[in-house]
Formats: sequence, structure tokens, C-alpha cells
Amino acid sequence: MKTIMVDMDDVITYGNFSKILEDYLGYVPDYDRIKSYYIQDILGDKKADFFSKFKDMDMYDHATLLPDCYDVLKELSAYYKIYICTDYIWREIVEYAGNNLKNKYRFLYEKLDFIEPKNYIFTADKSVVHCDIKIDDKVSNIEGAETKLLFTAWHNKDLTEEELKQKNIIRVNNWKEIKKVLLEDNKSF
Ligand SMILES: [Mg+2]
Repeated sequence: MKTIMVDMDDVITYGNFSKILEDYLGYVPDYDRIKSYYIQDILGDKKADFFSKFKDMDMYDHATLLPDCYDVLKELSAYYKIYICTDYIWREIVEYAGNNLKNKYRFLYEKLDFIEPKNYIFTADKSVVHCDIKIDDKVSNIEGAETKLLFTAWHNKDLTEEELKQKNIIRVNNWKEIKKVLLEDNKSF
């Protein structure tokens, strides 16, 4: 059975951190102009204050799965071995990373009842995970996989089809497209 590494933030659940950031700022930032993967970089000198509050929050409190995520992942799990792989360490508050890990665990445990907890991988270095297929919104996280699926997010939407083609990356915008690539187009399982 082929293996799939699936990212968590901005792939199975979307926008939880940016919602907290918007509440803190009191406005919705212009995401089209943010090029950094780390949107908190727009906070400038307010960063320390923001993280002193954020460290006690559970960003998955009101989080939901993206549309079709549950059904497609469940279907995929009949043909592939699925691992959820997620970074939990905030660079700004490394000492509180354990809180985030606990919150992530609870979210996965409650929302994806068909994936066993032993298939959760908590790491900031996804290059050590050797899966045949990788689905992530960060390009560097999918490098090395046989099949690379890049989930569209604000920070990768400017990558052109040509650039993606060179890296042998397939762009996906939603879970229906993931299903098409892995269950309909690619019958290599
Ligand atoms: Mg992500």
C-alpha cells in the first residue's frame, strides 16, 4: 500500500491562525500582498504582545475540516496508508509548543475518527518522513516525494504552472481535486 503524508494547517483545516490574527489586528489584512509563509511577520513590533496572548489560546477551538476533506480522506484510506504530519512549534513561543501539540492531537482525534493516532506525526522537519505521496501547502515540505500535491494558499498562489511543472508538482485547490488526482487519474495504488 502506498503512503500519503497529509499536512494539517491550511490543508485539512483552514485559516484558524489568520482568524485569531485578524481579531487581534481588528481588520482583515490584504493577503494578496503577503508573500511570507509566516503571516505573523506583518505584526512588526506588536509580535511579542500578540504571542503573549496567543500562547494560551487553542486555535482549533472553533476549527472545522475543509469541505469534502473527511469523505475524501476516508475513501483514500481504503487504498493508501495515511499519515497526518504537522509542525507544532511556533518560532516565537517555542517553550509553549506542547500546548499546540495537545490541541492538534485533540482536533485530529475528534475530527478524523478513522485515522489511528499512531499515524499522526508531529515534526517541524518533514524531510525525515518518507511517504510516496505528500500533500502540503509549503513547497519545501513535499520535495522528495514521488507524487507532490501542493495545496493552494496565499503564500504559494503566485507560483506559475511552468514553475510547478519543472518541480513535478501538481497544484490542488480543494479536496475534490485531490480525489481526482489520487483516485481517478492515478490508479497506481
Ligand atoms: Mg500547512
